[in-house]
Amino acid sequence: MITVHSFVFNPFSENTYVLYDETSECVIIDPGCFSQDERMQITSFITDQNLIPQMVLNTHCHIDHVLGNSFIKKEFGIPLWIPKGEESTFNSVPTYSDVYGFGGYEHAAVDHFVEENEEIGFGNSTLDTIYGPGHSAGHVAYVNEKQKICISGDILFYGSIGRTDLPGGNFETLIKSIHTKLFALNNETIVYSGHGPVTTIGHEKATNPFCAIN
Ligand SMILES: [Zn+2]
Repeated sequence: MITVHSFVFNPFSENTYVLYDETSECVIIDPGCFSQDERMQITSFITDQNLIPQMVLNTHCHIDHVLGNSFIKKEFGIPLWIPKGEESTFNSVPTYSDVYGFGGYEHAAVDHFVEENEEIGFGNSTLDTIYGPGHSAGHVAYVNEKQKICISGDILFYGSIGRTDLPGGNFETLIKSIHTKLFALNNETIVYSGHGPVTTIGHEKATNPFCAIN
């Protein structure tokens, strides 16, 4: 059984997730830790729980989701996996990190590009990769349908959706991703978003002002 632990990091209030199971193996999704205190919070948690990190995964590569990639990668000696379609988005981060106030941002080398529908394993658990562009060109969600878990990044939020005005963003594409990919999941699926509180597919289907289906 996968346990999801969340942190809220950096001035963008980005949600970072650590997923682990009974084997203690874990994956770190979208590490947004940047300050000394934030780095301490996540490493203390992993150490205190005796977790064994396997990899860093990104749902997409906007700066607030990748600030801690390099730190986590080095701290635990694990590989960085990013979605295949996010390579250019990721490689542009160093060009604007200073402007966003993250002087000292350290870029990390990518070890693996995650493909659409790729199954990712850790411990006794697996995550499926759902391609859901619109907020970002190569954005993916990591899903375990049996356990009704969806790490949605910035595709879908509680009562909202990801912004579509950044490079690679497109409103119609995002709505289509939500309707055809995320809303195909069980209504009870818990959505762990890139920002804000958790929600469920059923709740967003019924009430989300941007993409509800009635
Ligand atoms: Zn984003």
